[in-house]
Amino acid sequence: MLRYDYRCADCGERFELSVPSMSSPTPHCPSCDADALVKLVTAVRIGGAATSGPSRSLMPRSWEATRGGDKDVVRGWRDAAVRRERLEERHPELAPDRRPVLAHEGQFADKPLRAGDPWPSATPSGETA
Ligand SMILES: [Zn+2]
Repeated sequence: MLRYDYRCADCGERFELSVPSMSSPTPHCPSCDADALVKLVTAVRIGGAATSGPSRSLMPRSWEATRGGDKDVVRGWRDAAVRRERLEERHPELAPDRRPVLAHEGQFADKPLRAGDPWPSATPSGETA
């Protein structure tokens, strides 16, 4: 069983639920029975096993996502970020590519050009820019 925190998009209720597996269907809200639940990303608790915590891409990017700057929420995410930083220092393969993206359209749609990448000398299709 996995335990997740959820927030109901309809009534705003927050609660923790157990689901049998990651692929289980989203449960219904215990307050209003809506199925519009938003899975909140906290550490997934699996029967005492160690967790790598949330990845950077799942960390809050808005004021609203920190519940308006709630001290405990901000502290929790800051601690999670510090733990993630330490984990990525020990296991660099888990760290995302954090170099700035310089181009991501046209010929770079499949593979964005990042700072430090060599400039491609010719396009595979032979197009001229
Ligand atoms: Zn609800």
